[in-house]
Amino acid sequence: MRFTDIIEKKKRNLALTDEEIKFWINGVTDGSIPDYQTSALLMAIVFNGMDERETATLAESMMYSGDIIDLSSIPGIKADKHSTGGVGDKTSIALGALVAACGLKVAKMSGRGLGHTGGTLDKLESIEGFNIFLTEEEFKKQVSEIGLSIIGQTGELVPADKKLYALRDVTATVNSIPLIASSIMSKKLASGSNTILLDVKYGEGAFMPTVEAAKELATAMISIGNRLGRNTMAMITDMNQPLGNTIGNALEVEEAVETVRGNGPKDFTELCMRAGEIMLMQGEICKTEAEARKMLEEAISSGRAYEKLLEMVKAQGGNVEQIKNTKLLPQSKFKTELNSKEAGYISNIHSQQLGILAMHLGAGRATKEDSINYAVGLKMNAKKGDLVKEGDLLCTVYHDEELKPEWIEQFYNTFSYSDSKVDPIPIVEAILK
Ligand code: URA
Repeated sequence: MRFTDIIEKKKRNLALTDEEIKFWINGVTDGSIPDYQTSALLMAIVFNGMDERETATLAESMMYSGDIIDLSSIPGIKADKHSTGGVGDKTSIALGALVAACGLKVAKMSGRGLGHTGGTLDKLESIEGFNIFLTEEEFKKQVSEIGLSIIGQTGELVPADKKLYALRDVTATVNSIPLIASSIMSKKLASGSNTILLDVKYGEGAFMPTVEAAKELATAMISIGNRLGRNTMAMITDMNQPLGNTIGNALEVEEAVETVRGNGPKDFTELCMRAGEIMLMQGEICKTEAEARKMLEEAISSGRAYEKLLEMVKAQGGNVEQIKNTKLLPQSKFKTELNSKEAGYISNIHSQQLGILAMHLGAGRATKEDSINYAVGLKMNAKKGDLVKEGDLLCTVYHDEELKPEWIEQFYNTFSYSDSKVDPIPIVEAILK
């Protein structure tokens, strides 16, 4: 097989065979295909796309490029969820505890944050001692015994994706539905769960700007999952404002704890409940959404969801006292309240800008090498659609350094106001399967 023929074929908008795609990914993995040839093929894919079969074969070939986690020794259906990333997204922590308290086995590998989006691992590491580096055996043992574990990637999962992503990053070839879908799904497939729930976010603070684009990505990922024998569903959810009220690691852990105890913000609680309903049905624990909702509500009101979170934190070496009393989580030196300078209905909140502001405070990383300050962040007091008066509290900023005037200006610029009533946005826009 000559790789130039494969590039030529995709350049002429023809579908590649399964053998050609496998040949490419094997060559990327063992280094026998040079980066300049892969870059040319990537660009041809950006322009001409891939059909569903090609996309699934690409994801499958990438999955086989490295280690694959075998969860078959754990009895029952193993569930995973994945979010395309957002501002204030602490869903995995609360949702994992909620569904595990209902008997589902959740084996989750999460990532770190970069730029305006936070990562679940960073949030969990704001709990003293919390160990995200379990071995594969420890991970499986924990999922078997308590039904829940959230860790960083073990072994060498999907090395082809690492190489391709690095190349896509510097060749303007990130933005392509088949490339994004196969990249995300190859990692989910290699993580070994039977069911996958995708939370595909749309809006200003998300990877996908519109509902339509998010649905297109979700559909491509569902097709990959289902073709490869995984029950895969997706939620299309709003990221035109931060999720819940908090942005920042320890603050988000506190909010996740409040949520599993039944005191969470409305939008975040609703997202967790809808996601929980789908996961419990995928895991064959419940037959209907109504049955699942009842079970989830009971897990909260009985305290079992909270107990499950405590169990996971304890099993992974974290300080449970910080969960029992969240004031013991890292605390910032200063708190500054920012009040509205205008009156009216809040018509827009630029979540990406707020995410960047939290990053400036130290809650996120501008580059992969940056370290994190777990204590800092933002606690919002306003949502889209709220009617505010001048002087009303919009947000409390938790910070260790003096706030720069340009950050405060940036904060105020993230809000837009309207004289007429603004409808709040539903957190879950659609559910796809
Ligand atoms: N996230 C991924 O893991 N891969 C992509 O291609 C884009 C976002």
